[in-house]
Amino acid sequence: MKYNTRNIGIIAHVDAGKTTLSERILYYTGLIHKIGNVDDGNTTMDKDIQERNRGITISSAAISTQWKKDNKVYNINIIDTPGHIDFAVEVERSLRVLDSVVAVFCAASGVQPQTENVWFQAEKHGTSKICFINKMDRIGADFFAVLNDIKIKLNAVPLALQIPIGAEIHFEGVIDLVNMKALYWTDENGETIVEKEIPDYHIAEADEYRMKLMETLAEYDEDFFDIFMDNEQNITVEMISKAIQRVCRSGSAVPVLCGSAFKNKGIQPLLDAVVTYLPAPDQLADLQGRDPHTEETVTLERNEAAVFSGLVFKVMIDKHMGRLAMLRVYSGTIQSGDTLLNVRTGESFRISRILQMQSDKTLSLEEAKAGDIVALTGIKDAKTGDSLSSLEKPILLEAITIPTPVIRVA
Ligand code: GDP
Repeated sequence: MKYNTRNIGIIAHVDAGKTTLSERILYYTGLIHKIGNVDDGNTTMDKDIQERNRGITISSAAISTQWKKDNKVYNINIIDTPGHIDFAVEVERSLRVLDSVVAVFCAASGVQPQTENVWFQAEKHGTSKICFINKMDRIGADFFAVLNDIKIKLNAVPLALQIPIGAEIHFEGVIDLVNMKALYWTDENGETIVEKEIPDYHIAEADEYRMKLMETLAEYDEDFFDIFMDNEQNITVEMISKAIQRVCRSGSAVPVLCGSAFKNKGIQPLLDAVVTYLPAPDQLADLQGRDPHTEETVTLERNEAAVFSGLVFKVMIDKHMGRLAMLRVYSGTIQSGDTLLNVRTGESFRISRILQMQSDKTLSLEEAKAGDIVALTGIKDAKTGDSLSSLEKPILLEAITIPTPVIRVA
């Protein structure tokens, strides 16, 4: 059974465009039907005002949406992730439940300190990453300078999958280096992507960066190295794509894309990259837990047939639904009506509802399985960090601890 789920967090230095990008993601994935703007204070992810108005759901720690690619539907759970290590506990708990990160950078400001800290924290968790260089339309936007910044400040291997066509007010679109196509967004809402041949004046640069992309893949991926050495002429898009997937998931290189969230350019290719390159929950290494009675280590396979284990990563109170426990399911399957054990308290409880958070509404689910992020009602005494398990097989997952900030020495 394949899990078409991606559990992602979006990290960014304040002002890099995280709210704008999140909003656009909800729009293009069909969860909201109108593009809002942070500057007008009407985005879905704009927490302060709206959360008060509408009750819980908006910044409900996670929002679930869907993206279709090659006739496959992917569930994308976006887990709220503070961009600042000052919120150490929140950063840590979201890193515990997400599988990968989209790091947003401002094309004019490059890598800024808040992102740097959270990036290294994510690194400790072995979290896969994709970078999005935003604000390509801004004065001073420089894609290549940010690539260099990623290399130097984040000590990462950036893998440019695109190069921009123009910059600042002349930012028109991107060249997709995998498919060697120029992509333009012609309507105001950026819904239609027009695919064209690469313009003549960009061919040399596109060839150069495609070669760099393949050389980097050959350097960090053995399989691709063999293909590359063997017959460079016969390399297919599929081969490149698979190699990008492997280096991204192993963390040896980081795919980089660009665009302008504000101008509605570049979001769909970013979503394609999220579902193509970032890992599904069942592709991650087995998880270790502990039997609270025997202290023995339990290895959990991340599939729906395994014994159930899950972690509460946030508890919220809703006026209508009462106490809601946000849960990451790591293994197994649960259904509404099931009785579960809170391993910390030793108390059992019956799940009354399983909910999926979708922007300003919630959806009732029959069940939740390994890899899912849902909210449970019916749980009486839950705290952040609680492990939930079946009554027969209690499993204690590692507690969420406060990390020491990573300080980079220049
Ligand atoms: P956050 O603090 O990271 O959530 O950033 P916001 O999404 O709130 O954006 C900060 C400011 O940058 C707002 O004024 C946005 O309108 C603006 N902004 C966001 N994305 C872009 C972009 O792609 N281009 C330009 N020029 N401005 C942007």
